[in-house]
Amino acid sequence: MRLSVLLPLPLGPLSYLPPEGCSRPPRPGLRLAVPFRKGVRVGVVLGVEEASESDFALRRAIGYLDEEPFLDEAGIEFLKRAAELYFAPAGQMLADLAPFLEPPLLHEVRLVDGAARPGLPQMALWRDAAELDPVLLDELREGGVLEERVRELKPTRKTLVPLRAPSDKLTVKQLAALETLRALGEAESQTALAAAAGVGPGVVRALVEKGYAGWREVEVELSAQPPAGPALEPLPLPEPPPRINGGRWSERLQLAAGLAAEGETLVLFPERYELERVYDRWPPPALPFHGGQSPQLRRALWREKPSVVLGSYQALLMPRQWRRIVIIDEGSTSYKLPSGSRAHAARLAELRAELLGADLHYLSLTPAVEVVDKPGLLLRPPRTRVLPIDLRRERGWPLTGRAVELLAQVPQKSRQALVLVARRGYSGRLFCKSCDWQPVCPNCDLPLRFHKPGRRGHLVCHQCGYSEPAPEVCPVCGGEVFGYAGPGVQWVAAEIQKRLPDLPVYQYSAERKDDLTPLQRGEPGVVVGTTALLRTPAPPELALILLPYAEGFLPASDFRAPERYHRLLWQLADLHPTRSPLIALQTFEPDHPAVEALIEGSVTGVPESELALRRVLGYPPAVRMVVLEFSHRQEATARAAAMEAADFLQKRQGGYQETAPFAPLLGPAPAPVPRVRGRYVFHLILRAPEPNLLRDWLADLPPPKGARLRLDPDPVGFVGLLED
Ligand SMILES: [Zn+2]
Ligand SMILES: [Zn+2]
Repeated sequence: MRLSVLLPLPLGPLSYLPPEGCSRPPRPGLRLAVPFRKGVRVGVVLGVEEASESDFALRRAIGYLDEEPFLDEAGIEFLKRAAELYFAPAGQMLADLAPFLEPPLLHEVRLVDGAARPGLPQMALWRDAAELDPVLLDELREGGVLEERVRELKPTRKTLVPLRAPSDKLTVKQLAALETLRALGEAESQTALAAAAGVGPGVVRALVEKGYAGWREVEVELSAQPPAGPALEPLPLPEPPPRINGGRWSERLQLAAGLAAEGETLVLFPERYELERVYDRWPPPALPFHGGQSPQLRRALWREKPSVVLGSYQALLMPRQWRRIVIIDEGSTSYKLPSGSRAHAARLAELRAELLGADLHYLSLTPAVEVVDKPGLLLRPPRTRVLPIDLRRERGWPLTGRAVELLAQVPQKSRQALVLVARRGYSGRLFCKSCDWQPVCPNCDLPLRFHKPGRRGHLVCHQCGYSEPAPEVCPVCGGEVFGYAGPGVQWVAAEIQKRLPDLPVYQYSAERKDDLTPLQRGEPGVVVGTTALLRTPAPPELALILLPYAEGFLPASDFRAPERYHRLLWQLADLHPTRSPLIALQTFEPDHPAVEALIEGSVTGVPESELALRRVLGYPPAVRMVVLEFSHRQEATARAAAMEAADFLQKRQGGYQETAPFAPLLGPAPAPVPRVRGRYVFHLILRAPEPNLLRDWLADLPPPKGARLRLDPDPVGFVGLLED
């Protein structure tokens, strides 16, 4: 008998012999410690295979970590299907979905029957393997003379407990402290006990020294924090449709709680901020589950059986038979995993629901283009007040006169304003005013961003992190006057401060997070920030939201950009829980469909027209699309690898190309950013109405010569231009 074991690594299943002397029948889903390379890793048993003649070459697993399976059979099936869906090894999918799988281990070893070998350390008795050389261990393992055992180390803490009954050898104060400890059962520290007993720390120290109290190691009980806020009233719908849109945040939240009211429900969130905000108001019982929790806590919560889980994508594999899965804000780009399988968690949730036969619901203010054609319920969207400021007519940059007037009213009326900018730093570009020279990153084909702090400021590449001091004079013509383009947070904040010196101005981005407490208290002021601001509570007196350059949120060369822009604008309209702040947009395109939809109060119009457009042009969801990224330090090598793959794929597609509704192969072409971190990047785009076709074409794609190949199995955007 041999075991098929999946490790959380970019590999398929591996075969191992069952652990030595293990009487337990192997059950799929159990976690198992196995030797891997020179160390020990923890994987999951997928199944049992027939013995074969080559088994003597297999390594033996060390031991199981679980009594009950960590994954259930439906979870294992989901893992396999998810790996197929994303053309990824199943082990990669396991690593992505359960990064907390491997606990700290106590791994002990000894020599078989106390076998002694000259030149070996003392190993007749069980010893912690961490104290020994892994290479030596591996040799002994291969030689068949090593016994091993392993168990999960549970997190522990030290606690002060009473050890003996009081006696007349103690002083009055020592007696009082001991009685307090006996009454409490335990104390977390000597200081804590002294404070509780109303005695000095010396008294408690004496108790410990005399042996009346002492330290004991106890296992830490791990549980999730209870919700902090008042619970809301769930709003159940008699026959909820697959898609619910519109409404205000609190209303959608009530509907989500209503959808979960019958229990056995997973509610999936794109971001931790939103998940925690919702959990605080969720009627119990519910369990939060996300990557912000410690791995120990996630492993502890994994086996609890709450009827409702509010989870991130990491909850998708939980061993539960959900009756319903609710996807919140299905269009959020945060559902896309940035590395590993690069899967899209909303697609994974759809697959999970399909395999479990669970009901699936999408709940968001604006529907994603992927789901807008499903039957839906539309609630009244938040009321909007929109003021487009046409940059082709109005003067002033980066703030027009109109914008300054609006901002000037903020302190007069004791109100608050939020200014949203697409970039960190001072400006997206710096250029010489005499000769147009502009600094670019030596590693990437991108202009260096200008950051102001310091006398001269710094030039920084936001892609690779390269940084240098800004020049004092132009290195080409010696000119001393520089111009700036693409306003960032620092520039806009400085401009507001200059024009309205009495107005308190705060900044908020990944780079600088000012304390916003005065605004949260209701004091007048303006906060200038990136989209990181959308993950903070809206100031209570918010009256104005200003976008100095709305197109900054609408990058060209990205087929999903209009959908994202539309979603962002509506998110702003729903930012304050009850008010409708004025949304002022400085823009060159005041009649962009997304702006018109906001004015007209339509949340479905733009996704509907985008869907129609993508069906005509052959973009997702009309087709499944994958991007192959070939990169190398030599441009020619990267290009040649992409060309070779293109030839291979063309042959593979054969006659399909003539009958295909859309060209199934695009490129090779330089990526939108042609060089990143010193590597030239070429893209090949594959698309087909049926994912199986893509799988067939990619099946034995030869590995590229020299170049590196990365596959994006579900591109959500070709350029990541938005910055927190
Ligand atoms: Zn110059
Ligand atoms: Zn760079």
